[in-house]
Amino acid sequence: MSITPVVRLQSVSKIYGSGEAQVIALDNVSVDFAPREFTAIIGPSGCGKSTMLHTLAGLDHVTSGSVTVDGVALDSLNDNALTELRRDRIGFIFQSFNLVPTLDAQANILLPLRLAGQKADNQWFQSIVKILGLEKRLTHRPHELSGGQQQRVAVARALISRPAVLVADEPTGNLDSQASREVLGLLHSAVKELNQSVIMVTHDLTCAEAADRVLVMRDGHIVEDMRHPQAEALQEALR
Ligand code: ADP
Repeated sequence: MSITPVVRLQSVSKIYGSGEAQVIALDNVSVDFAPREFTAIIGPSGCGKSTMLHTLAGLDHVTSGSVTVDGVALDSLNDNALTELRRDRIGFIFQSFNLVPTLDAQANILLPLRLAGQKADNQWFQSIVKILGLEKRLTHRPHELSGGQQQRVAVARALISRPAVLVADEPTGNLDSQASREVLGLLHSAVKELNQSVIMVTHDLTCAEAADRVLVMRDGHIVEDMRHPQAEALQEALR
């Protein structure tokens, strides 16, 4: 039995500008992302990683082709429905954490539900907090937390609505190596223990090594699709 992908790109192209200024950021890309898998996307600067992440997360429209998230074709949605799908089905984690400074950790984690007028599932909240090791930090505001702890809160916030997929854009970009390892370990736990799916863009090969699957991009194409690669194999693929 084939597994239904949580995200599917079919012949997706994204072209910026026109005429001489035209840039083909994604060139006819087709790829499936399986549920309960941690995928990293790597490649040289300008190869299309961010464009891929933005299009698959419904933050940017494709020029041609189709994107399906959790069984829903994004081009079938109007702007409101797309906003709702992003809010309910996609968890975002950014390099800069993007926490609200005036709210404590617990309020930051629960914010997406509050904004959506939804109630938290207390059991889910407790299990996220436990797995992310945030039990003793819930009353702290962001400025009272280390970078690694702030990113943990951001991961918890991304998980609170039980999204279909977690999308992470350079999630360790602002962290030292110890905190990076911790956050990667937590993304791994989200996949293994909470049955989540993670798609992460990174330029850091050590981070990519933590993933189950690594897509290597070049010039708007996926040029390698690797399972549990070692850093040397990734270095080779980027040569
Ligand atoms: P990466 O994330 O791998 O560095 P990007 O997806 O950001 O690559 O960019 C891919 C290509 O698309 C680059 O050539 C970049 O300059 C171009 N690009 C990205 N966003 C825009 C935009 N908003 N307008 C014009 N060109 C863009």
